Amino acid sequence: MPSASASRSPATLRAATAPAAPVLLDDDAVDSVIAWYDAHHRDLPWGRATASPWGVLVSEIMLQQTPVVRVLPRWTAWMQRWPRPADLAQAGTADVLRAWDTLGYPRRALRLQECARAITAEHDGEVPRTEEALRALPGIGEYTAAAVSAFAFAQRAVVVDTNVRRVLARAVRGCALPESSLTAAERSIAAAQVPEDRARSVAWNQAVMELGALVCTARRPRCEECPLAAGDCRWVAAGSPAADPSAQRRVQRFEGTDRQMRGRIMKILRTHGRATDADLLRLDPEDPDRVERCARSLVDDALAVRRSGDLELPS
Ligand code: SF4
Repeated sequence: MPSASASRSPATLRAATAPAAPVLLDDDAVDSVIAWYDAHHRDLPWGRATASPWGVLVSEIMLQQTPVVRVLPRWTAWMQRWPRPADLAQAGTADVLRAWDTLGYPRRALRLQECARAITAEHDGEVPRTEEALRALPGIGEYTAAAVSAFAFAQRAVVVDTNVRRVLARAVRGCALPESSLTAAERSIAAAQVPEDRARSVAWNQAVMELGALVCTARRPRCEECPLAAGDCRWVAAGSPAADPSAQRRVQRFEGTDRQMRGRIMKILRTHGRATDADLLRLDPEDPDRVERCARSLVDDALAVRRSGDLELPS
């Protein structure tokens, strides 16, 4: 006689293994995350208590694709040198790229300077406080506008970064990992989860983000330290099922990529101001076409210029 499970139809099996329907965290669970944050958060210099709105905006741009530990010294030096948008607006582009140093994706530095110029020209040098005005600035997307509005101006906003997405995927939806890119369903869960009260929404946004960064990490979540583990996390309640392979992000190879080569060329330019063809060729004598392709792409991105045959930082 077939067992009960063997007699189930494929549709029933799919339903049985699908993630649980989203159930938002209740007020007590939200309180527990906020209390955890109050006790365990990192004291970062771009916190609202210490940083200006401009400092918060700069930190959000730097942190987009770079870990906190690498951002910390560069953010501090940057804010000492250019404490207001007007200061960065007037800076030389070569100085800006040198100060960006090894943060990576240096086009962000150019966009940040464009942003500083727009703030100076259109907002009397003051970072605007509404998400709409922030999004109209160069280089400011949905996430950054929400984060600056929430963390610099204590406004209610839906702040959804990778850390928040991971906590909500696990705790609310019972999935091991979120999808590879933000979906409309995730956005609507994140929006519904933000408390209505303005002060509480700010506390929630910073708390859930920090929980994802420190405890609900991608590879080995430390559930034993999490305030949601005792009954509020659907993923833990379901026995911590493995991630759907389609949801797992591939770790991108860096060694040998054009991105690495561009970084090596930028390092020469930051250090010496210019690179001759011979300097460039030494980077990969076996593949001069690759070196030239990368140098040309830096020129196309306005990160370098050709002058008298040499490659230089833009002045
Ligand atoms: S209990 Fe574990 S998986 Fe669930 S939210 Fe906390 S750290 Fe993440």
